[in-house]
Amino acid sequence: MSLNEFLPYVSPLMSAVSTAVGAVKTAADIGDKSKIKEAAQALDDRLRELNFAVLQAQEKNVALVEKISALQEAGKAAQDEIRDLQLKKQDLARYELVALSEDVFAYRLKAAEADGEPVHHRCPTCVENGKRGLLQRQKEHGALNLVCPECRFVYLTGKFKAMERPGRAITEDDADNGPHSWMAR
Ligand SMILES: [Zn+2]
Repeated sequence: MSLNEFLPYVSPLMSAVSTAVGAVKTAADIGDKSKIKEAAQALDDRLRELNFAVLQAQEKNVALVEKISALQEAGKAAQDEIRDLQLKKQDLARYELVALSEDVFAYRLKAAEADGEPVHHRCPTCVENGKRGLLQRQKEHGALNLVCPECRFVYLTGKFKAMERPGRAITEDDADNGPHSWMAR
């Protein structure tokens, strides 16, 4: 209950208390004990009504304050979530989805966005789940694949040890030159 709602609600009760106070004074001036008792009882009743109204209003205020702070918290959480999503979106915009080999896709840092970072690949599944998913090269039986340290998914690159060129990220061209070229011959 707002103050604007509260005031019209308690104002008549406050007036009633004033009137009752006046009646007590009048009865006291007259000196009529039974009138004084009657007026005092009326005053007690009016005060009780006012106290009850104030308590009710306070309870409603507490509920209102709780409602407001719950809304504020929910609003803040939503803001944090939006900021988080925006940051992730901004970060993801630095990457492009590339084919490591036929139908095997990963995010690769765009060279123009590198800003000193080595070009690297990230696991699309882990990226979706808000993780880094930085793919690492794995040599197995001469095959050079990329493995996600987080979900352990192995991304087949179609590259083999003989083709390895150190210090160079795997590209679509490499994939195209993979098993479809010299290995397939
Ligand atoms: Zn992963």
